[in-house]
Amino acid sequence: MELFKGQNLLQFVEQFKTDSDCLEYLSEIKWHEAYKCLKCGHFGCQTRVNFSKICNKCSYIESSMANTLFHKVKFGIRKAFYICFEMSTTTKSLSASYVAERFGVTEKTARLFMHKVREAMKSSGTHPIEGDVHIDEFVIGGKEEGKVGRSYDSKKKKIV
Ligand SMILES: [Zn+2]
Repeated sequence: MELFKGQNLLQFVEQFKTDSDCLEYLSEIKWHEAYKCLKCGHFGCQTRVNFSKICNKCSYIESSMANTLFHKVKFGIRKAFYICFEMSTTTKSLSASYVAERFGVTEKTARLFMHKVREAMKSSGTHPIEGDVHIDEFVIGGKEEGKVGRSYDSKKKKIV
């Protein structure tokens, strides 16, 4: 489990206080090279207040969670981050019932999400999931490689 490995709990809590913190983090990873509209291929965009991007040409909106491990997570991005953290920092393998109880989700939800996380971790490296945020980029703290680069449009961040 490499995800969040070596991450200090207090740092983690400090870094991800709100859903917005998580979305901003995902947004930085996802578009750190460049933004390209999924619909029309245009390169210019505006960043919205929830860290989704809106294409300057066709107005297509892409959330920072789209096509990542956190796509369509129904129990909240922050909870999902914490489950990932728990999974990657604990030495024993977690049971779905434990995670369900600890995070207040159903056991089925816990099992499905944990499966997704494991698959994403397995497939990172040699077989990254097409279009997904590579999980090996998803390490904070311990293995930080400097500041995550920002795409050129980030300077004109605009509150919509
Ligand atoms: Zn577009």
